[in-house]
Amino acid sequence: MARYIGPACKLCRREGEKLFLKGDRCYTDKCAFDRRPYPPGQHGQRRVKVTEYGIRLREKQKVRRIYGILERQFRKYFAEADRVKGVTGENLLSLLERRLDNVAYRLGFAATRADGRQLVRHGHLFVNGKPVSIPSFLVKKGDKVTLHTRSRELGRVKVSVEGVERRGVPEWLELDKAGLAGTVRDNPVREAITLPIKEQLIVEFYSR
Ligand code: SF4
Repeated sequence: MARYIGPACKLCRREGEKLFLKGDRCYTDKCAFDRRPYPPGQHGQRRVKVTEYGIRLREKQKVRRIYGILERQFRKYFAEADRVKGVTGENLLSLLERRLDNVAYRLGFAATRADGRQLVRHGHLFVNGKPVSIPSFLVKKGDKVTLHTRSRELGRVKVSVEGVERRGVPEWLELDKAGLAGTVRDNPVREAITLPIKEQLIVEFYSR
């Protein structure tokens, strides 16, 4: 699947909030959004009237960008969330959270979701003892996610795991920090996803 390879900080500035796409840098005074908290481009500082459609569009784009997913795949997630039982918006977030690249990030193996994606693509992750190289692989309750033995010595993995306390491991995952392994305790529920997302706006965007 294709992925966005342009500048990450522009996305935060476009969405008008910090999306934490660059790991530790996001917590320093080098953060581009802290320095220039207005949309990118020549006319970024102009005042524009945001329409009802625009509000919904921005929310959808924001979530897409947080999880690093392009439009076509995001639509598929929405269709799946709409198809299964339950509240569509909550189903959508649950699906996104269960992606293996996100799980690598949540467990602290990677500093960002993009980094998590690379770990998965390069064969560093195992699910239930089997190598999985598909970032969109969905974990389920009871799955055990581990790192390849040689990957445990990677400098970026060590640094990232050390910083996991700052981000916190969500309650639906359990991290064995010493063993560099994680277990999926349960499917993520909405309350366990603390991102500032108004998922109802995304449902309204696709239902228009
Ligand atoms: Fe966004 Fe700031 Fe991180 Fe850049 S450094 S990705 S602007 S939060």
